[in-house]
Amino acid sequence: MISIRQLQYEPAEVKHGYTDTILRVDLSTKKINLTKLSPEFRDKYIGGRGYALKLIWDETTGLTRYDSPENILVMASGPLGNEPGFPGTGKFVVGTISPLTGTFIDSNVGGHFGPLLKLAGFDAIAVTGISKQDVVIVIDGDEGTISLVPSPIYMKEIDEGALSFGEALLKDMNGGGFSSSIAAVTAGKGALNARFGIINSLYYDKKRNRIRAKQAGRGGTGTVMRFKGLRAIVVRSSLPKANGNNAADFKTVRRIGSEFRKMLRKHDPEQLNLSSCGTTSLSEYMDKFHIFPVHNYQYGQSPNSSKLFAEVFFKKYFSKKVPDGCYFGCCLACAKGAEDVLLQRGPYAGRRVSVDGPEYETVAALSSMGIFNPHYVMEYNWYCDEYGLDSISTGVTISFLMECVQRGYLDADDIGYDLRFGDIDAADRLLHEIASGEGFGKIAGQGVARSKLWVARNYSARHGVPEEQVLAELNKFAMETKGLEFSMYVTKESLAQQGGYAFALKGPQHDEAWLIFIDQIHKELPTFEDKARALRWFPLIRTWFNATGLCKLPWIDVRHPEAAHTKEPVKNLPTLEYYVQYYNATVGTNKTLQDILNDSERLYVLQKLINLRQGKGTRESDRIPLRAIGPVYSNEYESRAEYYDEWLKEHAGSESIPDDPREKHRLLLKKRLEAFERLCDVVYEEKGFSQDGIPLPETVEKFGLMDERARQLLETYNVISYDNNMEEELLKTAGGVSR
Ligand code: SF4
Repeated sequence: MISIRQLQYEPAEVKHGYTDTILRVDLSTKKINLTKLSPEFRDKYIGGRGYALKLIWDETTGLTRYDSPENILVMASGPLGNEPGFPGTGKFVVGTISPLTGTFIDSNVGGHFGPLLKLAGFDAIAVTGISKQDVVIVIDGDEGTISLVPSPIYMKEIDEGALSFGEALLKDMNGGGFSSSIAAVTAGKGALNARFGIINSLYYDKKRNRIRAKQAGRGGTGTVMRFKGLRAIVVRSSLPKANGNNAADFKTVRRIGSEFRKMLRKHDPEQLNLSSCGTTSLSEYMDKFHIFPVHNYQYGQSPNSSKLFAEVFFKKYFSKKVPDGCYFGCCLACAKGAEDVLLQRGPYAGRRVSVDGPEYETVAALSSMGIFNPHYVMEYNWYCDEYGLDSISTGVTISFLMECVQRGYLDADDIGYDLRFGDIDAADRLLHEIASGEGFGKIAGQGVARSKLWVARNYSARHGVPEEQVLAELNKFAMETKGLEFSMYVTKESLAQQGGYAFALKGPQHDEAWLIFIDQIHKELPTFEDKARALRWFPLIRTWFNATGLCKLPWIDVRHPEAAHTKEPVKNLPTLEYYVQYYNATVGTNKTLQDILNDSERLYVLQKLINLRQGKGTRESDRIPLRAIGPVYSNEYESRAEYYDEWLKEHAGSESIPDDPREKHRLLLKKRLEAFERLCDVVYEEKGFSQDGIPLPETVEKFGLMDERARQLLETYNVISYDNNMEEELLKTAGGVSR
């Protein structure tokens, strides 16, 4: 392949988890640079999400949009990524300004790309600029070259698909065969046409002898990649992976890793059994406890749900008994897949494909559309990956539009066909239209937040109802916050998860605070205070996982037996002790869990500052739709009237409970809204924020983040000028000198 630009380089060695080098590629100027990082940078920003946040904070502005040339697409592992002796170390983070939210988004993803990038000499790659022609970046650690090449043209069908194109590219780059030393990230045609494009992380799985894919699914990172004219990044390194981090104390890493793996092997089968069924195990739990989204989160349960339980996928699709870790050494091995699935619909009907998944979120995207057909789950999963679309945002947007039809805000004339809950043909048609940017897919591909504006305008024009009035109604069941579609949990019964979604800095994605399991299923956060404290603690530890290159599942999804004997079993502290030891043994530090949480809080506050700068950082931006708080319409209320009436008895306080069901419903919503607002008050205080959700100056200062930009930003929100004035006043009274 002829390069547009090539740079020879000497790959930096990994030492104690770091190479201290970032690869910078500007697609507008075609410049390729290596940036060396100082030890202070590394100590302060850790890696992964931390590196992405710092680059975005420093090099973009409040005016930067997802498609601005200066927007940065960062991919970064972390100091603990790439250790096959410890479970879950293949993760890396993709961070950028999102097309959906307009603020920082990151999505973590497994596979081999992050570890190989590090072995090829880089802690991160940061891509800026926009290329006029589609290009591929090739990082060859073996040859010591970084090349920018024109995107190869294979054949139309392959070129459009993120999976097919990636597979062809990996073969091409490797002399026609596959190897564990080469991996790629790709974006597909759907990412060009929808705001919720994903990035596929492709790697060779020797056990299944094929290319497999994991996805950076949330927030439109793939859309940014395609807008930049970047089709793929390929990375190669043949360096040994064992002790690839060149740990400070490898003996301890090995010992701790082996103890942890032993614990996982023993206890996962007794708990969620992820190693057999992957995250599809969750469907049954969620349905049992009214959390499984049905008909756009109207209901949390359905008589049809059992068609989507783990057993069905296990028997019919996950038949191959192979350990499915998405990186070497992950004995939790939840990355299930299926072979030889016959596509029955869409442009590739008749083709037999391998499917990576489904995961719980994809299964629940279908229940949300009222579709309980496991084969269609497999097809939907494959098409979303091949097109490069987020299966969550796609499903939530289609579900929202289906409810608009149910409630008369849309009809077949608007869409071009009838789009009703449970109609596979209609849902499938819209999926393909979203991917190709045709028909009603042009609207749906914008996501829930923008689709609802279109629906409100269109309905208002046709029916003469004021637009604001329609919008106010749609806001009640449009499942988005900050512009991001909700992930797949009904939160009506879990105040903790309402907060988990509302305060999540990237928007309502559970990876910041997945509290629904411990709150609603295990009932381990019984008091208001327990919930508020959890909403401070869990986002911090979870942020750390995203900064270090680690998967959270081995920590959060398998409870260590010793946890039961600790003060707070929900934190699973005995398992976190493995992580603290692994960190210290790799990096050569002597940190405690509290030190780690403090490091993490710096990143959390920095992300909050970026949100503030991009206009998504106040209490207003944390508002969640009424549907997330309680039953919006009578059908929802009536489906669990007994439960809601009981709840009301406990929470009505001094207010008398009316007999009329409509009045009761109204009082229930009032009480739910009051609880949510009170939660905001308490949690903001816990986090060191003002009552408007803005970090207080002392919070920003505590983490060494109060630079001039932060100062100005806080001034515009009026949270710092008060202190400055006070300081001036004090200086005056003391006859102080001017500085
Ligand atoms: S637990 Fe699952 S997602 Fe996490 S690293 Fe292991 S296989 Fe990958």
